[in-house]
Amino acid sequence: MHSTENEEGEPAIRYLRLTIAILFGRFVGWLSRLGGHGGSSLPGKLALRWHPHLLQELRQRAVHGTVLVTGTNGKTTTTAMARSILTRHAWSVINNHNGANLIAGLATAFMGQGRILGRADLALLEVDEATMPRASAELKPRMIVVTNVFRDQLDRYGELSTTLRFIQRAVEDMAEDGQLVLNADDPQVAYLGRDRPHVVYFGMEVDGNVGSDPGRTAYDASDSTRCPRCGHPLEYFTRFYAHLGHYRCGACGHERPQPTIRVAQDKAGTITLMGDFGWVPIDMPIPGLYNLYNLAAAAALTLTLGVHVDLVPAAIVSMVPAFGRMESIVAENGTVLRLALVKNPVGFNQVLDTMVQSPEGNHALVVINDRYADGRDVSWLWDVNFESELLQQKIGRWWVSGIRAWDMAVRLKYAGIEPSKIVVLASAKAALDAALAESRDCTLYVMPTYTALLEVRDLLTRRGLVKHFREG
Ligand SMILES: [Zn+2]
Repeated sequence: MHSTENEEGEPAIRYLRLTIAILFGRFVGWLSRLGGHGGSSLPGKLALRWHPHLLQELRQRAVHGTVLVTGTNGKTTTTAMARSILTRHAWSVINNHNGANLIAGLATAFMGQGRILGRADLALLEVDEATMPRASAELKPRMIVVTNVFRDQLDRYGELSTTLRFIQRAVEDMAEDGQLVLNADDPQVAYLGRDRPHVVYFGMEVDGNVGSDPGRTAYDASDSTRCPRCGHPLEYFTRFYAHLGHYRCGACGHERPQPTIRVAQDKAGTITLMGDFGWVPIDMPIPGLYNLYNLAAAAALTLTLGVHVDLVPAAIVSMVPAFGRMESIVAENGTVLRLALVKNPVGFNQVLDTMVQSPEGNHALVVINDRYADGRDVSWLWDVNFESELLQQKIGRWWVSGIRAWDMAVRLKYAGIEPSKIVVLASAKAALDAALAESRDCTLYVMPTYTALLEVRDLLTRRGLVKHFREG
């Protein structure tokens, strides 16, 4: 009878098919690296063509299941922090640390790590918001972490509500016992937790120098300050940046949920992580208020998985920041570079705020491209606050480069920055060379869009300042 034959034959064929897909994917990855290309999603793309249900098979490689991290900003850093903590917990982690966060990138992460068909403790994956419904359906995550939702790449996702709907669909698709980890300070994100039985919230507390600064909120690119339940404008008691803060709706009484994992920074800059475990001081290797939210998200993620809080401080201080996320690199002539990917007004404003708060004088190199991965529309640059007086005092010189260098230069000029301070060089190499030569003994902030970051990475690799980018 052929049905018997099927039952006996199927597992072996499935196993064979999966093995071939993985071997093939690894081979493509190896070839791609050999040719000097990143190739972070090509292996997965080709393997998925050969085996369309690849992810459903691969997810079984993670013994303790899969965690998906999504949101507009902070996915990569939150995942890097959580990975560092889990490594100290002695868990092996499958992770797309190269930032390839579409379906093919997720498949590549599963195929490229460990032994062929070997197992890992956890799959920890950052996922693009629009990819969340499919990632959730195929990977059946045990946990979804949402960092925040800002207006981002409008031409790809449309309005804010579209991004939220993608995440909402993924959440609805998750099993009833699935765990949500949500930012309490983002009204729309926190609202995803309504009617869900297992939610852990994280948030920021007011302690000293963070918190409502009227000057800060005045220019923020805030875009979702209406009550998610009734649509009435929300009242804020504290606003950290954009629409993140402590809020309440005067009309229906809806308010910020009490977070169980909290971070705060005092006037001296000391950072504290708080929860039902008490509190622990944290030494952060990367600057920026937004990285405190990433810390809180990573702590909430890992503590909910059963990690002991004592492992967190050492894991954070020793973490290797993801490329383009504020790690510092020292150039041959002593110039300190800080690389910060910019992709939307809120993120850009946060980088500018960090520049302004650092004690030393700084220079800036901005590289703006408008390829698909950058977002084709660069009008969002007009929502970035270059008008800030402090910024104009603090930045000695602006180098501007990339495909849309002139749009950027015009934006700076309209912000009132002296034209003599702005240098436009179309070639990213020429701009980097010039900026490095003139930034001896100060910090050069390099702010590229996504594809420009890849170019800058190549340039720094050629100068021997960055190790060749490896994956897998
Ligand atoms: Zn309301």
